[in-house]
Amino acid sequence: MPELPEVETIKRELEKSVLGKKITEVCVYNPRVIREPSVEKFKKELVGVSIKNIARKGKLLILELSNGKSLTIHLKMTGQLVYPGTGKAARVIFHLSDGKTLDFNDQRLFAELRLRDDWHSLPFVQGLGPEPFDITVGQFKEMLSKKKTKIKPLLMDQTFISGIGNLYAAEALFRAKIRPERSASSLADKEAGLLYSEIKNTLLEAIQHKGSSVDNYVQLSGKPGDYVRFHKAYGREGKPCFVCKTPIKRIALGGRGTYFCPKCQQ
Ligand SMILES: [Zn+2]
Repeated sequence: MPELPEVETIKRELEKSVLGKKITEVCVYNPRVIREPSVEKFKKELVGVSIKNIARKGKLLILELSNGKSLTIHLKMTGQLVYPGTGKAARVIFHLSDGKTLDFNDQRLFAELRLRDDWHSLPFVQGLGPEPFDITVGQFKEMLSKKKTKIKPLLMDQTFISGIGNLYAAEALFRAKIRPERSASSLADKEAGLLYSEIKNTLLEAIQHKGSSVDNYVQLSGKPGDYVRFHKAYGREGKPCFVCKTPIKRIALGGRGTYFCPKCQQ
């Protein structure tokens, strides 16, 4: 699933390519991805408006429009935005005033598109925890100290901290040398501090490399992101740890495949 670096990559690319353009036509090929309002209303209210601003909140993309409304896009598992579009696998096609299209693809149909008066009032948005870049190390330590839950599922809990998913939680914990199943409140002060900086370092590096193309994620151009080759734990089961050569282990934790080095991470 696209996480903060992937969604941020798409946001920056949308800013370069579709900002200020007008939506001239909307073709819906699978109505299931449109969660609100009705498909008819969705199409009617989008035609003729221009894209005024692109925002991101956690893993949510927001296109703010000239009619005061906002189009929110949650890519979930397999959602993609592609510009210029090819029309090949599109569930929704947005025709733009430059004669090109913005394709919304979604193989598994879990994604959610909404057209709303106000995106801030979405219950999902209201429940989001702060992003790693919006808190200080002191605040992060304070947040952890109150939680007895396991650290990896906690990092993935969007109501606790937003933007991190299965992939970057595994990478940050590897770099901070912390076992994924440790209780959050058991982290020593130094460990929590290191985790805080490694979360931010990991996310920033991933943004630099335009995200990780696992599953279906692609950049806006349709090209894959480049960060997979820098992964140290995620997806490396049985391969030697880059630090100590011990094979990376995979366990199920909170229902998710979790990769770690049994020697380096304590
Ligand atoms: Zn190791």
